[in-house]
Amino acid sequence: MPFNFSARVGRVNPSQTLSIGALAAKIRAEGKDVINLASGQPDCDTPEHVKQAAIKAIRAGHTKYTPVGGTPALKQAIADKMQRENGLSYDPQTQVLASCGAKHSLYNLCQALLNDGDEVIVPTPYWVSYPEIVALAGGTPVCTPADRDTLKMNAETLRRSITHATRLLILNSPNNPSGAVYGEDELHELADVLLAHPQVAIISDDIYEHILFGGRSFRNIVNVCPELYERTLIVNGISKAYSMTGWRIGYVCGAEEVVDAMRKIQSHSTSNPTSISQEAAVEALNGPQDFVRELTRSFEGRHARIHNLLCGIKGVECPPAEGSFYIFPDFSKTIAAHPDVN
Ligand code: PLP
Repeated sequence: MPFNFSARVGRVNPSQTLSIGALAAKIRAEGKDVINLASGQPDCDTPEHVKQAAIKAIRAGHTKYTPVGGTPALKQAIADKMQRENGLSYDPQTQVLASCGAKHSLYNLCQALLNDGDEVIVPTPYWVSYPEIVALAGGTPVCTPADRDTLKMNAETLRRSITHATRLLILNSPNNPSGAVYGEDELHELADVLLAHPQVAIISDDIYEHILFGGRSFRNIVNVCPELYERTLIVNGISKAYSMTGWRIGYVCGAEEVVDAMRKIQSHSTSNPTSISQEAAVEALNGPQDFVRELTRSFEGRHARIHNLLCGIKGVECPPAEGSFYIFPDFSKTIAAHPDVN
């Protein structure tokens, strides 16, 4: 039967990371030795005490629907974490919404905030899903160039990119895929531009906040400019810090009216995130945090090694990452020197 597809599905591209993963699997099936670096997930297991919390949850019967935006215990754990680690206060009942992964939080946010043609500033290089999530909501992603040496967007680029149609800016630091981290001064400069444009809301995707190198400590744009609290939506989740990518718990903290709108959308799609994962997430957030520190130490060591190896390849330029578990080597000179390879 010739199906009639929606314009919506025509607006988005398939996930590039999943396509690369499929290609790696195909090459491996042909007997070649390849390492798949496509998807961003820690290679270690979820901490044992978190797994035990999930098993306990099943045995205790936490297997039913929960409130759409998360259990009171999970929302309280998220609000406590925001206060303890980020120095930011959110009312767990009205300003916190748990969803099926941070990707789902971003999806709900864009569905709640964007109308057709609204522009969303996405600094390059960016996580592949941002422009697609924006496009699915009818928005227009405006991908702004990064400074070549820092791989970050500067204040002047931001200023030039804002138009009367700009509704959102997506900031992601530490960054996927560059590993760049915005310092306080850089965030201040961006904040100064944003203060002059009150129609622009901000998404601060803090999902890699713990994975910082060189003794850096984490700051987001609200930390450096509290005046932006009202119009910044913090997106975060447990996937990366606790090696829980498969458990699918992410969250948003921000203005009550935005959280309300997102909850309404979520109530007609996924409803609550998995009840068992929510119990595990409470343990991850409230329990001992040594796992996160050890994970970061391990990534810092591996980063030093891979950075060294990449810099040893003729023609490759590779700025060191400041955080996250990504690295962003520039192979353009090597590729140009080998036009026969594709
Ligand atoms: N934000 C960024 C920058 C990411 O890299 C990812 C996953 O790769 C996510 C959000 C989504 O994380 P999850 O949906 O697993 O919570």
